[in-house]
Amino acid sequence: MKKITIAIDGHSSCGKSTMAKDLAREIGYIYIDSGAMYRCCTLFALDEGLIAADGTIDTTTLERRMPEIHVSFRLNAETGRPDTYLNGECVEQRIRTMEVSSHVSPIAALPFVRAAMTAQQQAMGREGGIVMDGRDIGTAVFPDAELKVFVTASDEIRAQRRYDELRAKGQPADFDEVLNNLRERDRIDSTRAVAPLRQADDAIVLDNSHLTIEQQKQWLLERYAERAL
Ligand code: C5P
Repeated sequence: MKKITIAIDGHSSCGKSTMAKDLAREIGYIYIDSGAMYRCCTLFALDEGLIAADGTIDTTTLERRMPEIHVSFRLNAETGRPDTYLNGECVEQRIRTMEVSSHVSPIAALPFVRAAMTAQQQAMGREGGIVMDGRDIGTAVFPDAELKVFVTASDEIRAQRRYDELRAKGQPADFDEVLNNLRERDRIDSTRAVAPLRQADDAIVLDNSHLTIEQQKQWLLERYAERAL
């Protein structure tokens, strides 16, 4: 079978990364969570005091300091899944907090942030054999990907999933805050000037509102088999 490129895009918290990770593990591909890369840029900006209390971003300093942001992924032997590292530190938990979630979309809308992350993502996928999930993978990062999937689900179902995930990790969460956050992220992600969230013309749409993780996995494996033959 040839090694193809698989792009999985869609709205916030619709289970893209679970599907993408499961598929990559099953077929022996590299999995890249592009959202984690934007979350790392946001964590860096927060840690370095580049986001004011009112949300204003010090874009001049952030742009100058972009070369200091090094994101990598390492397999966690215990979970069998990759953890995200920012400048050598495992930040897998810290990038998933509501604080990062509430600042990430304005950071990801900055053209210089997108240019830097897109270049890194394209370098990671140069050889094929990759599953990448995000918002602009099938449209901007890998427009020639052999398999493109656009995932969606109802707002309430997505919020419930994210709320359950945060609670399971012992992180404080309020359902309405989670729901408002994902609606606001979708709004900013869909309306930004550079590489907005949109369905690629040649993407297959999957509404997984009423699918189990196992059903999604099967569906995706079948689409992969069709394209990789
Ligand atoms: O996928 P996740 O929800 O972790 O992504 C966090 C945020 O990163 C998104 O809300 C979006 O603002 C940004 N993002 C992006 N382009 C991608 C992946 C994520 O702009 N390819």
